[in-house]
Amino acid sequence: MRKLSIEDLDVKGKRVLMRVDFNVPQHEDGTVRDDTRIRAALASINYVRDNGGMLVLMSHLGRPKDPNDADTPQEKANVIAKNALLKMDCVADRLRELIDGNVGKLDDVVGPEVEAAVAAMAPGDILLLENTRFNKGETKNDPELARQLAKLGDVYVSDAFGTVHRAHASTEGVTHYIDQCAAGFLVAKEMEFFGRVLNNPERPLTAILGGAKVSDKITVIENLLDLVDTLVIGGGMAYTFMKAQGYEIGDSLLDEAGIDVAAAVMEKAETKGLELLLPRDTVVADAFAEDAASKVVGVGEIEPGWQGLDIGPKTIETFCEALRRSKTVVWNGPVGVFEMAKFSVGTKAIAELLASDDAITSVIGGGDTAAAVMQFGLADKMSHVSTGGGASLEMLEGKQLPGLVALTDAS
Ligand code: AMP
Repeated sequence: MRKLSIEDLDVKGKRVLMRVDFNVPQHEDGTVRDDTRIRAALASINYVRDNGGMLVLMSHLGRPKDPNDADTPQEKANVIAKNALLKMDCVADRLRELIDGNVGKLDDVVGPEVEAAVAAMAPGDILLLENTRFNKGETKNDPELARQLAKLGDVYVSDAFGTVHRAHASTEGVTHYIDQCAAGFLVAKEMEFFGRVLNNPERPLTAILGGAKVSDKITVIENLLDLVDTLVIGGGMAYTFMKAQGYEIGDSLLDEAGIDVAAAVMEKAETKGLELLLPRDTVVADAFAEDAASKVVGVGEIEPGWQGLDIGPKTIETFCEALRRSKTVVWNGPVGVFEMAKFSVGTKAIAELLASDDAITSVIGGGDTAAAVMQFGLADKMSHVSTGGGASLEMLEGKQLPGLVALTDAS
């Protein structure tokens, strides 16, 4: 079912309550270190302003704690000081630099003063509420907070994909009290691309899974086994698969709990007749460090004292060949320790192939995989780079995400 999109709304003269993801990385002094998430929301923000609407923006920032939970006065003072750095003023400052217009910042999330400020808005105005998580009801999805938030908007827009997997007052609860709840441009794009992968992919469909642990991704693997034509396994989790095949893996990452899962996945892939690609060779190092000694060895040749930190050149060749045959590729988890240049070669080769082949629809999961393609400067060349780590993982698990289910169905 298609959901209402921001372009389906008539925003002229209306108050648009928009949930954005301004949970930005900060410097120690609280200033914004990376404004990518703020810039990502500009399309929806500018759309509302250009069409004569008034914008009430809300987001969480970090994980504020309740000072009343502190055991000692000193601890309480520390919590208060840390919370002060999570006020939205730093975000408002950055937003003012990015848009040509006035951005008001309120010191509360809800309440009479907020309502008065919202009532006084004129078309084109923007107000940013205080950090939604300063209100305890936010993460509890408190209906009373949801009702109060709903008073601030004639219509609701969700443009915070990073939080749609959470049923919070600002992401889910509020939608029960507003008639028209629509996806902003960011969320609509996420739904479109994940919908393509999960519902009607152009085939062959290949999934690349990497990252650290098999057990973290069991549900994703199981869901994808029913969807994909080819499953590519790399990264730390590949060694658990090798172990399950009876190979020695030296000091490589082993997820004990995942061994049986890996064995079951290999069996299911065989039964289903789908292609499962595992590394043929691997780059091993004598320490988990950039300056460690390293060499390429075949699978089954990893000696004690050595650990696999990247896929080897033959594996890169095999994986890239499978990708070239694909029409749709979804990727979750780096295939090596990409944070260290020396072990980023495999992850970079995959990113470069996806970036260079226009015939492939490439959907990159959020979190580490998105960080990797950004590090290589290739994010713009992908069909879609997700802005939500947890949310994209839950999408691939086949789950219904509360913040998306809550949006109004388009008729
Ligand atoms: P995840 O959060 O499960 O997607 O894991 C991502 C992390 O896995 C990244 O920080 C990578 O550095 C790490 N990773 C990828 N390959 C390996 C490997 N062979 N050994 C250890 N860690 C790895």
